[in-house]
Amino acid sequence: MENCIFCKIIGGVIPSERLYEDDKMIIIKDIAPKAETHLLMIPKKHYSDITGLDVTTASELGECLLKLQEISRKLGFSDGFRLIINKGEKAGQTVFHLHIHILAGDNLTGF
Ligand code: AMP
Ligand code: ZN
Repeated sequence: MENCIFCKIIGGVIPSERLYEDDKMIIIKDIAPKAETHLLMIPKKHYSDITGLDVTTASELGECLLKLQEISRKLGFSDGFRLIINKGEKAGQTVFHLHIHILAGDNLTGF
């Protein structure tokens, strides 16, 4: 998708700290971390937000989530983490390519 910052990161046009990659997604470090560990799980297919999924793509997203057990172990935050998906500007979404925030660390505050 033209002019999408996350498509450019996936394509390697914009650099990122990539911690994990498979055929369906990448996991990168958030450039402006809001927690000790703040990662972004970004599906490689471009959807503007969580409401843009169909049954097939929701299932693919589910496959990405299923990998979290192994990935969280490898990356050292399997003892606790929080997932956040912002939908819409009102909820704080600033990049309109579906992504899941992964927050972890000792200083996680409540909602
Ligand atoms: P959201 O506000 O839910 O759309 O989240 C977008 C996130 O992307 C924010 O937490 C930003 O800090 C992060 N972000 C924006 N540009 C980059 C980038 N070039 N590399 C890594 N993270 C980024
Ligand atoms: Zn995109």
